[in-house]
Amino acid sequence: MNIFDMTIHELHAALKGKQISSREATVAMLDRIETIEPQVGSFITVTSEQALTAAKSADERIARGECHLLTGIPMAIKDIFLTEGIRTTCGSRILNNFIPPYSASSWEKLRDRGAVLLGKLNQDEFAMGSSNESSAFGITRNPWDTTCIPGGSSGGSAAAVAARQAIATLGTDTGGSIRQPASHCGCVGLKPTYGRVSRYGVIAYASSLDQVGPLTRDVADCAAMLEAIAGHDPRDSTSVNTAVPDYTATLKGGVKGLKIGLPKEYYIEGLDPDVQRAMDAAIETYRRLGAEFVDISLPHTDYAVATYYLIATAEASSNLARYDGVRFGHRAEADGLLDMYAKSRSEGFGTEVKRRIMLGTYALSSGYYDAYYVKAQKVRTLIMNDFIAAFADVDVLLTPVAPTPAFKIGEKINDPLQMYLSDIFTIPVNLAGTCAMSLPAGFSASGLPIGLQLIGKPFGEETVLRAGYAFEQATEWHLRKAAI
Ligand code: GLN
Repeated sequence: MNIFDMTIHELHAALKGKQISSREATVAMLDRIETIEPQVGSFITVTSEQALTAAKSADERIARGECHLLTGIPMAIKDIFLTEGIRTTCGSRILNNFIPPYSASSWEKLRDRGAVLLGKLNQDEFAMGSSNESSAFGITRNPWDTTCIPGGSSGGSAAAVAARQAIATLGTDTGGSIRQPASHCGCVGLKPTYGRVSRYGVIAYASSLDQVGPLTRDVADCAAMLEAIAGHDPRDSTSVNTAVPDYTATLKGGVKGLKIGLPKEYYIEGLDPDVQRAMDAAIETYRRLGAEFVDISLPHTDYAVATYYLIATAEASSNLARYDGVRFGHRAEADGLLDMYAKSRSEGFGTEVKRRIMLGTYALSSGYYDAYYVKAQKVRTLIMNDFIAAFADVDVLLTPVAPTPAFKIGEKINDPLQMYLSDIFTIPVNLAGTCAMSLPAGFSASGLPIGLQLIGKPFGEETVLRAGYAFEQATEWHLRKAAI
Protein backbone atom coordinates (compact mmCIF):
# COMPACT_ATOMS: atom_id res chain seq x y z
CA MET A 1 0.00 0.00 0.00
CA ASN A 2 1.24 3.50 -0.83
CA ILE A 3 2.05 5.53 2.26
CA PHE A 4 0.06 8.46 0.88
CA ASP A 5 -3.07 6.29 0.63
CA MET A 6 -3.04 5.45 4.35
CA THR A 7 -5.35 6.66 7.08
CA ILE A 8 -4.00 8.00 10.38
CA HIS A 9 -4.67 4.71 12.11
CA GLU A 10 -3.01 2.65 9.37
CA LEU A 11 0.09 4.81 9.30
CA HIS A 12 0.18 4.90 13.10
CA ALA A 13 0.28 1.09 13.23
CA ALA A 14 3.16 1.07 10.72
CA LEU A 15 5.06 3.76 12.64
CA LYS A 16 4.55 2.04 15.94
CA GLY A 17 5.58 -1.33 14.49
CA LYS A 18 8.66 0.38 12.99
CA GLN A 19 7.82 -0.79 9.45
CA ILE A 20 7.85 2.86 8.33
CA SER A 21 9.61 5.87 9.82
CA SER A 22 8.04 9.31 10.01
CA ARG A 23 10.86 10.50 7.76
CA GLU A 24 9.89 7.97 5.08
CA ALA A 25 6.24 8.92 5.40
CA THR A 26 7.05 12.62 5.20
CA VAL A 27 9.27 12.19 2.16
CA ALA A 28 6.55 10.12 0.47
CA MET A 29 4.00 12.88 1.12
CA LEU A 30 6.30 15.66 -0.07
CA ASP A 31 6.95 13.71 -3.30
CA ARG A 32 3.24 13.19 -3.73
CA ILE A 33 2.57 16.91 -3.18
CA GLU A 34 5.13 17.79 -5.84
CA THR A 35 3.59 15.39 -8.37
CA ILE A 36 -0.03 16.42 -7.74
CA GLU A 37 0.24 20.17 -7.16
CA PRO A 38 0.28 21.18 -10.85
CA GLN A 39 -3.08 19.44 -11.33
CA VAL A 40 -4.85 20.35 -8.07
CA GLY A 41 -3.21 23.33 -6.36
CA SER A 42 -4.14 22.57 -2.77
CA PHE A 43 -1.24 24.42 -1.15
CA ILE A 44 -0.26 28.05 -0.72
CA THR A 45 2.99 27.17 1.08
CA VAL A 46 4.80 23.82 1.33
CA THR A 47 7.05 23.60 4.39
CA SER A 48 9.40 20.82 3.29
CA GLU A 49 12.35 21.67 5.52
CA GLN A 50 10.33 22.15 8.69
CA ALA A 51 8.48 18.92 7.88
CA LEU A 52 11.71 16.91 7.69
CA THR A 53 12.92 18.39 10.97
CA ALA A 54 9.59 17.58 12.65
CA ALA A 55 9.71 14.05 11.22
CA LYS A 56 13.16 13.57 12.71
CA SER A 57 12.00 14.50 16.20
CA ALA A 58 8.89 12.32 15.74
CA ASP A 59 11.14 9.37 14.91
CA GLU A 60 13.19 10.08 18.05
CA ARG A 61 10.00 10.14 20.12
CA ILE A 62 8.84 6.87 18.60
CA ALA A 63 12.25 5.30 19.31
CA ARG A 64 11.78 6.31 22.97
CA GLY A 65 8.44 4.51 22.93
CA GLU A 66 6.32 7.69 22.91
CA CYS A 67 3.98 7.02 20.02
CA HIS A 68 0.72 8.95 20.31
CA LEU A 69 -1.78 8.23 17.55
CA LEU A 70 -0.73 11.44 15.79
CA THR A 71 3.04 11.22 16.34
CA GLY A 72 4.88 11.33 13.03
CA ILE A 73 1.70 11.74 10.94
CA PRO A 74 2.14 14.21 8.03
CA MET A 75 -0.68 16.76 7.95
CA ALA A 76 -1.48 20.11 6.45
CA ILE A 77 -3.62 22.99 7.70
CA LYS A 78 -5.67 25.76 6.14
CA ASP A 79 -3.78 29.01 5.72
CA ILE A 80 -6.16 30.67 8.20
CA PHE A 81 -4.27 29.14 11.16
CA LEU A 82 -1.41 31.23 12.49
CA THR A 83 1.89 29.33 12.40
CA GLU A 84 4.84 30.87 14.18
CA GLY A 85 7.61 31.72 11.72
CA ILE A 86 5.65 30.35 8.73
CA ARG A 87 3.90 32.67 6.28
CA THR A 88 0.13 32.82 6.88
CA THR A 89 -1.94 34.56 4.20
CA CYS A 90 -5.58 33.59 4.83
CA GLY A 91 -5.83 33.50 1.04
CA SER A 92 -5.44 37.28 0.87
CA ARG A 93 -3.01 39.61 -0.84
CA ILE A 94 -3.23 41.85 2.20
CA LEU A 95 -1.35 39.17 4.22
CA ASN A 96 0.93 38.13 1.38
CA ASN A 97 4.08 38.50 3.48
CA PHE A 98 2.71 38.03 6.96
CA ILE A 99 4.83 35.85 9.27
CA PRO A 100 2.97 35.33 12.56
CA PRO A 101 4.78 35.57 15.89
CA TYR A 102 2.74 32.75 17.46
CA SER A 103 0.70 29.67 16.49
CA ALA A 104 -2.98 28.73 16.72
CA SER A 105 -3.87 26.57 19.74
CA SER A 106 -5.44 23.86 17.59
CA TRP A 107 -2.28 23.46 15.52
CA GLU A 108 -0.11 23.58 18.69
CA LYS A 109 -2.08 20.67 20.10
CA LEU A 110 -1.43 18.57 17.00
CA ARG A 111 2.21 19.62 16.89
CA ASP A 112 2.73 18.79 20.57
CA ARG A 113 1.47 15.28 19.87
CA GLY A 114 4.16 14.97 17.21
CA ALA A 115 2.19 15.70 14.01
CA VAL A 116 4.32 16.83 11.06
CA LEU A 117 3.29 19.99 9.17
CA LEU A 118 3.58 19.61 5.38
CA GLY A 119 2.29 23.08 4.60
CA LYS A 120 -0.49 25.63 4.51
CA LEU A 121 -3.55 25.03 2.37
CA ASN A 122 -5.38 27.17 -0.13
CA GLN A 123 -8.74 28.69 0.81
CA ASP A 124 -11.16 31.39 -0.16
CA GLU A 125 -9.91 34.82 0.88
CA PHE A 126 -10.63 35.27 4.61
CA ALA A 127 -12.77 32.10 4.34
CA MET A 128 -15.42 33.94 2.32
CA GLY A 129 -16.66 31.65 -0.39
CA SER A 130 -17.93 28.20 -1.32
CA SER A 131 -15.64 27.36 -4.23
CA ASN A 132 -12.07 28.39 -3.36
CA GLU A 133 -12.21 30.77 -6.32
CA SER A 134 -11.82 33.89 -4.18
CA SER A 135 -8.27 32.98 -3.10
CA ALA A 136 -5.58 35.48 -4.09
CA PHE A 137 -3.28 32.50 -4.71
CA GLY A 138 -5.03 30.77 -7.58
CA ILE A 139 -7.79 28.22 -7.70
CA THR A 140 -7.78 24.72 -6.25
CA ARG A 141 -9.27 21.99 -8.44
CA ASN A 142 -11.44 19.09 -7.39
CA PRO A 143 -9.29 15.91 -7.51
CA TRP A 144 -12.30 13.91 -8.78
CA ASP A 145 -12.78 16.19 -11.77
CA THR A 146 -10.31 19.00 -12.23
CA THR A 147 -12.82 21.10 -14.18
CA CYS A 148 -14.88 21.38 -10.96
CA ILE A 149 -14.45 23.39 -7.77
CA PRO A 150 -13.39 21.52 -4.61
CA GLY A 151 -15.84 23.54 -2.50
CA GLY A 152 -14.91 26.22 -0.02
CA SER A 153 -13.74 27.89 1.90
CA SER A 154 -11.54 25.01 3.15
CA GLY A 155 -11.16 23.81 -0.46
CA GLY A 156 -7.44 23.13 -0.17
CA SER A 157 -8.02 21.16 3.05
CA ALA A 158 -10.52 18.84 1.32
CA ALA A 159 -8.65 18.57 -1.99
CA ALA A 160 -5.39 17.67 -0.21
CA VAL A 161 -7.09 14.76 1.60
CA ALA A 162 -8.86 13.57 -1.57
CA ALA A 163 -5.68 13.84 -3.66
CA ARG A 164 -3.71 12.08 -0.87
CA GLN A 165 -1.35 15.03 -0.43
CA ALA A 166 -1.85 14.93 3.35
CA ILE A 167 -3.05 12.17 5.67
CA ALA A 168 -5.41 14.59 7.40
CA THR A 169 -6.02 18.34 7.47
CA LEU A 170 -7.60 21.10 9.54
CA GLY A 171 -10.17 23.54 8.23
CA THR A 172 -12.59 26.09 9.63
CA ASP A 173 -16.34 26.28 9.24
CA THR A 174 -18.34 29.51 9.58
CA GLY A 175 -21.25 28.58 7.32
CA GLY A 176 -20.25 25.20 5.92
CA SER A 177 -16.60 25.60 5.00
CA ILE A 178 -15.52 22.20 6.33
CA ARG A 179 -18.62 20.16 5.47
CA GLN A 180 -19.30 21.42 1.95
CA PRO A 181 -15.76 20.85 0.60
CA ALA A 182 -15.61 17.50 2.41
CA SER A 183 -18.83 16.54 0.64
CA HIS A 184 -17.58 17.71 -2.78
CA CYS A 185 -14.23 15.92 -2.38
CA GLY A 186 -15.47 12.67 -0.83
CA CYS A 187 -13.89 13.00 2.61
CA VAL A 188 -15.08 13.19 6.19
CA GLY A 189 -15.37 16.69 7.68
CA LEU A 190 -16.61 17.72 11.10
CA LYS A 191 -17.72 21.10 12.40
CA PRO A 192 -17.66 20.85 16.18
CA THR A 193 -20.06 22.67 18.50
CA TYR A 194 -19.22 26.36 18.95
CA GLY A 195 -16.82 26.48 21.90
CA ARG A 196 -15.61 22.88 21.58
CA VAL A 197 -12.31 23.85 19.88
CA SER A 198 -10.27 26.95 20.62
CA ARG A 199 -10.30 29.72 18.01
CA TYR A 200 -7.14 31.28 19.44
CA GLY A 201 -4.77 32.04 16.59
CA VAL A 202 -7.37 31.44 13.91
CA ILE A 203 -7.80 34.52 11.71
CA ALA A 204 -11.31 35.74 12.49
CA TYR A 205 -14.01 35.96 9.84
CA ALA A 206 -17.29 35.95 11.83
CA SER A 207 -16.35 35.31 15.44
CA SER A 208 -19.75 34.10 16.68
CA LEU A 209 -19.87 31.43 13.95
CA ASP A 210 -16.25 30.32 13.28
CA GLN A 211 -15.19 26.83 14.42
CA VAL A 212 -12.12 24.69 13.76
CA GLY A 213 -12.45 21.05 12.68
CA PRO A 214 -10.77 18.11 10.94
CA LEU A 215 -11.00 16.74 7.40
CA THR A 216 -9.99 13.10 7.11
CA ARG A 217 -10.26 9.87 5.09
CA ASP A 218 -12.57 8.16 7.57
CA VAL A 219 -14.60 8.63 10.73
CA ALA A 220 -12.07 6.97 13.07
CA ASP A 221 -9.43 9.50 11.95
CA CYS A 222 -11.93 12.31 12.43
CA ALA A 223 -12.57 11.16 16.02
CA ALA A 224 -8.83 11.01 16.71
CA MET A 225 -8.24 14.51 15.35
CA LEU A 226 -11.17 16.01 17.25
CA GLU A 227 -10.00 14.41 20.48
CA ALA A 228 -6.61 16.07 20.01
CA ILE A 229 -7.82 19.59 19.22
CA ALA A 230 -10.90 19.85 21.48
CA GLY A 231 -10.95 21.29 24.96
CA HIS A 232 -10.85 24.44 27.00
CA ASP A 233 -8.31 27.13 26.18
CA PRO A 234 -7.94 30.06 28.57
CA ARG A 235 -6.81 32.15 25.58
CA ASP A 236 -10.25 31.86 23.93
CA SER A 237 -13.01 33.12 26.19
CA THR A 238 -15.65 31.36 24.07
CA SER A 239 -14.03 27.94 24.41
CA VAL A 240 -16.08 25.87 26.79
CA ASN A 241 -14.71 24.25 29.91
CA THR A 242 -16.23 20.78 29.69
CA ALA A 243 -14.37 17.49 29.58
CA VAL A 244 -13.44 16.07 26.17
CA PRO A 245 -15.00 12.61 25.78
CA ASP A 246 -13.00 9.68 24.47
CA TYR A 247 -14.57 9.84 20.98
CA THR A 248 -12.69 6.77 19.78
CA ALA A 249 -13.94 4.57 22.61
CA THR A 250 -17.62 5.12 21.72
CA LEU A 251 -17.34 4.84 17.94
CA LYS A 252 -18.48 1.25 17.73
CA GLY A 253 -21.69 1.58 19.74
CA GLY A 254 -23.93 1.15 16.66
CA VAL A 255 -27.23 2.87 15.86
CA LYS A 256 -29.83 0.40 17.09
CA GLY A 257 -32.74 2.44 18.43
CA LEU A 258 -31.08 5.73 17.45
CA LYS A 259 -33.74 8.28 16.52
CA ILE A 260 -32.88 10.15 13.34
CA GLY A 261 -34.85 13.23 12.29
CA LEU A 262 -35.52 14.13 8.67
CA PRO A 263 -36.24 17.87 8.44
CA LYS A 264 -38.77 18.38 5.68
CA GLU A 265 -37.30 21.76 4.73
CA TYR A 266 -34.09 20.01 3.64
CA TYR A 267 -35.75 17.61 1.20
CA ILE A 268 -36.94 20.15 -1.30
CA GLU A 269 -38.05 20.09 -4.93
CA GLY A 270 -34.84 21.60 -6.27
CA LEU A 271 -32.60 18.93 -4.78
CA ASP A 272 -30.36 17.33 -7.39
CA PRO A 273 -31.74 13.84 -8.22
CA ASP A 274 -28.36 12.18 -7.58
CA VAL A 275 -28.22 13.81 -4.14
CA GLN A 276 -31.80 12.71 -3.40
CA ARG A 277 -30.94 9.12 -4.43
CA ALA A 278 -27.89 9.10 -2.15
CA MET A 279 -30.03 10.33 0.77
CA ASP A 280 -32.70 7.68 0.10
CA ALA A 281 -30.06 4.96 0.06
CA ALA A 282 -28.49 6.29 3.28
CA ILE A 283 -31.87 6.26 5.02
CA GLU A 284 -32.34 2.64 3.89
CA THR A 285 -28.91 1.70 5.24
CA TYR A 286 -29.65 3.26 8.63
CA ARG A 287 -33.03 1.51 8.76
CA ARG A 288 -31.30 -1.79 8.13
CA LEU A 289 -28.88 -1.01 10.97
CA GLY A 290 -31.77 -0.52 13.38
CA ALA A 291 -32.19 3.26 13.46
CA GLU A 292 -35.66 4.81 13.60
CA PHE A 293 -36.72 7.77 11.47
CA VAL A 294 -38.90 10.66 12.53
CA ASP A 295 -40.19 13.39 10.21
CA ILE A 296 -39.48 16.76 11.76
CA SER A 297 -39.62 20.42 10.80
CA LEU A 298 -37.15 23.28 11.18
CA PRO A 299 -39.64 26.01 10.23
CA HIS A 300 -37.24 28.96 10.04
CA THR A 301 -34.84 27.32 7.58
CA ASP A 302 -35.89 29.68 4.79
CA TYR A 303 -34.46 32.66 6.66
CA ALA A 304 -31.08 31.12 7.44
CA VAL A 305 -29.10 32.31 4.41
CA ALA A 306 -30.31 35.92 4.75
CA THR A 307 -29.70 35.89 8.51
CA TYR A 308 -26.21 34.49 8.02
CA TYR A 309 -25.26 37.09 5.42
CA LEU A 310 -26.27 39.89 7.79
CA ILE A 311 -24.51 38.52 10.88
CA ALA A 312 -21.42 37.14 9.15
CA THR A 313 -20.80 40.27 7.09
CA ALA A 314 -21.41 42.55 10.10
CA GLU A 315 -18.85 40.64 12.16
CA ALA A 316 -16.46 40.49 9.20
CA SER A 317 -16.61 44.24 8.64
CA SER A 318 -15.53 44.73 12.22
CA ASN A 319 -12.90 41.93 12.27
CA LEU A 320 -11.30 43.09 9.04
CA ALA A 321 -10.92 46.68 10.24
CA ARG A 322 -7.53 45.69 11.67
CA TYR A 323 -6.01 45.33 8.20
CA ASP A 324 -5.11 48.96 7.75
CA GLY A 325 -1.47 48.74 6.67
CA VAL A 326 -0.23 50.04 10.03
CA ARG A 327 0.91 47.09 12.12
CA PHE A 328 1.06 44.22 9.66
CA GLY A 329 0.15 43.16 6.17
CA HIS A 330 0.28 45.08 2.95
CA ARG A 331 1.01 48.83 3.15
CA ALA A 332 0.47 51.00 0.10
CA GLU A 333 2.55 54.03 -0.89
CA ALA A 334 0.36 57.01 -0.04
CA ASP A 335 0.08 60.66 1.00
CA GLY A 336 -0.95 60.76 4.63
CA LEU A 337 -2.68 58.32 6.96
CA LEU A 338 -6.22 58.19 5.55
CA ASP A 339 -4.95 57.76 2.02
CA MET A 340 -2.67 54.98 3.27
CA TYR A 341 -5.59 53.16 4.92
CA ALA A 342 -7.74 53.46 1.82
CA LYS A 343 -5.07 52.44 -0.65
CA SER A 344 -3.73 49.54 1.45
CA ARG A 345 -7.22 48.10 1.80
CA SER A 346 -8.20 48.73 -1.83
CA GLU A 347 -5.07 47.00 -3.07
CA GLY A 348 -5.01 44.25 -0.46
CA PHE A 349 -8.59 42.94 -0.42
CA GLY A 350 -10.26 41.05 -3.27
CA THR A 351 -13.74 41.66 -4.69
CA GLU A 352 -15.70 39.26 -2.48
CA VAL A 353 -14.09 40.56 0.71
CA LYS A 354 -14.84 44.16 -0.29
CA ARG A 355 -18.44 43.22 -1.08
CA ARG A 356 -18.86 41.73 2.39
CA ILE A 357 -17.21 44.61 4.22
CA MET A 358 -19.65 46.95 2.47
CA LEU A 359 -22.67 44.75 3.22
CA GLY A 360 -21.65 44.40 6.87
CA THR A 361 -20.90 48.07 7.34
CA TYR A 362 -24.30 48.92 5.88
CA ALA A 363 -26.12 46.44 8.16
CA LEU A 364 -24.42 48.00 11.20
CA SER A 365 -24.85 51.63 10.22
CA SER A 366 -27.07 53.83 12.35
CA GLY A 367 -30.55 53.93 10.91
CA TYR A 368 -30.29 50.41 9.50
CA TYR A 369 -28.90 48.63 12.55
CA ASP A 370 -32.29 47.72 14.05
CA ALA A 371 -33.84 46.77 10.74
CA TYR A 372 -31.01 44.48 9.71
CA TYR A 373 -28.50 43.49 12.39
CA VAL A 374 -30.84 43.37 15.39
CA LYS A 375 -33.54 41.65 13.35
CA ALA A 376 -31.04 39.06 12.15
CA GLN A 377 -30.02 38.33 15.75
CA LYS A 378 -33.67 37.73 16.64
CA VAL A 379 -34.16 35.39 13.70
CA ARG A 380 -30.97 33.59 14.71
CA THR A 381 -32.61 32.80 18.05
CA LEU A 382 -35.67 31.42 16.25
CA ILE A 383 -33.42 29.18 14.15
CA MET A 384 -31.63 28.01 17.29
CA ASN A 385 -34.99 27.25 18.92
CA ASP A 386 -36.01 25.15 15.89
CA PHE A 387 -33.05 22.87 16.57
CA ILE A 388 -33.68 22.74 20.32
CA ALA A 389 -37.28 21.72 19.67
CA ALA A 390 -36.23 19.07 17.13
CA PHE A 391 -33.68 17.57 19.48
CA ALA A 392 -36.34 17.03 22.12
CA ASP A 393 -37.60 14.18 19.90
CA VAL A 394 -34.54 12.87 18.03
CA ASP A 395 -30.84 12.15 18.59
CA VAL A 396 -29.43 13.34 15.26
CA LEU A 397 -30.66 14.79 11.98
CA LEU A 398 -29.81 13.41 8.56
CA THR A 399 -29.71 15.84 5.64
CA PRO A 400 -27.82 16.52 2.42
CA VAL A 401 -24.71 18.71 2.80
CA ALA A 402 -25.25 20.64 -0.41
CA PRO A 403 -28.13 20.76 -2.92
CA THR A 404 -25.84 19.60 -5.80
CA PRO A 405 -22.49 17.87 -6.27
CA ALA A 406 -19.44 20.07 -7.03
CA PHE A 407 -20.14 22.63 -9.74
CA LYS A 408 -17.85 23.75 -12.56
CA ILE A 409 -15.06 26.25 -12.05
CA GLY A 410 -16.41 29.65 -13.12
CA GLU A 411 -20.06 28.56 -13.01
CA LYS A 412 -21.18 30.74 -10.07
CA ILE A 413 -18.36 33.20 -9.61
CA ASN A 414 -20.27 36.05 -11.23
CA ASP A 415 -23.49 35.31 -9.39
CA PRO A 416 -22.87 35.80 -5.66
CA LEU A 417 -26.47 35.00 -4.74
CA GLN A 418 -26.29 31.57 -6.40
CA MET A 419 -22.99 30.96 -4.62
CA TYR A 420 -24.52 31.97 -1.25
CA LEU A 421 -27.48 29.63 -1.77
CA SER A 422 -25.22 26.62 -2.15
CA ASP A 423 -24.73 26.76 1.66
CA ILE A 424 -28.42 26.53 2.46
CA PHE A 425 -28.12 23.19 4.38
CA THR A 426 -24.93 23.97 6.30
CA ILE A 427 -25.48 27.57 7.44
CA PRO A 428 -28.32 26.87 9.95
CA VAL A 429 -25.99 24.63 11.98
CA ASN A 430 -23.53 27.50 12.52
CA LEU A 431 -26.33 29.89 13.44
CA ALA A 432 -27.57 27.35 16.00
CA GLY A 433 -24.00 26.79 17.23
CA THR A 434 -24.30 23.02 17.16
CA CYS A 435 -22.16 20.28 15.57
CA ALA A 436 -22.41 18.40 12.26
CA MET A 437 -20.38 16.04 10.14
CA SER A 438 -20.22 15.40 6.41
CA LEU A 439 -19.36 11.91 5.23
CA PRO A 440 -19.19 10.13 1.88
CA ALA A 441 -22.59 8.72 0.85
CA GLY A 442 -22.42 8.10 -2.89
CA PHE A 443 -21.52 9.46 -6.29
CA SER A 444 -23.31 11.39 -9.02
CA ALA A 445 -23.82 9.92 -12.48
CA SER A 446 -20.73 11.84 -13.57
CA GLY A 447 -18.61 10.37 -10.78
CA LEU A 448 -18.58 13.26 -8.31
CA PRO A 449 -18.76 12.51 -4.57
CA ILE A 450 -21.94 13.24 -2.59
CA GLY A 451 -21.88 13.73 1.17
CA LEU A 452 -24.52 13.28 3.80
CA GLN A 453 -24.76 15.51 6.85
CA LEU A 454 -25.39 14.28 10.39
CA ILE A 455 -26.36 17.15 12.67
CA GLY A 456 -25.95 16.58 16.40
CA LYS A 457 -27.09 18.21 19.62
CA PRO A 458 -24.76 20.81 21.12
CA PHE A 459 -21.70 18.85 22.35
CA GLY A 460 -23.22 15.74 20.77
CA GLU A 461 -20.11 14.97 18.67
CA GLU A 462 -19.95 11.48 20.20
CA THR A 463 -23.34 10.52 18.78
CA VAL A 464 -22.58 12.05 15.38
CA LEU A 465 -19.29 10.17 15.15
CA ARG A 466 -20.88 6.92 16.30
CA ALA A 467 -23.68 7.25 13.73
CA GLY A 468 -21.16 8.16 11.03
CA TYR A 469 -18.96 5.20 11.89
CA ALA A 470 -21.89 2.78 11.68
CA PHE A 471 -22.76 4.09 8.20
CA GLU A 472 -19.15 3.90 7.07
CA GLN A 473 -18.84 0.28 8.24
CA ALA A 474 -21.97 -0.62 6.28
CA THR A 475 -20.90 1.11 3.04
CA GLU A 476 -17.81 1.43 0.88
CA TRP A 477 -18.04 5.00 -0.36
CA HIS A 478 -15.13 6.18 1.77
CA LEU A 479 -12.83 3.56 0.22
CA ARG A 480 -13.08 4.95 -3.31
CA LYS A 481 -10.18 7.12 -4.34
CA ALA A 482 -9.99 9.94 -6.86
CA ALA A 483 -8.05 8.62 -9.86
CA ILE A 484 -5.37 11.24 -9.70
N1 GLN B 1 -19.63 29.87 2.02
C1 GLN B 1 -19.93 30.57 3.23
C2 GLN B 1 -19.43 32.01 3.13
O1 GLN B 1 -18.93 32.35 2.12
C3 GLN B 1 -19.32 29.86 4.39
C4 GLN B 1 -17.87 30.11 4.50
C5 GLN B 1 -17.27 29.50 5.73
O2 GLN B 1 -17.83 28.63 6.36
N2 GLN B 1 -16.11 30.04 6.09
O3 GLN B 1 -19.54 32.75 4.05
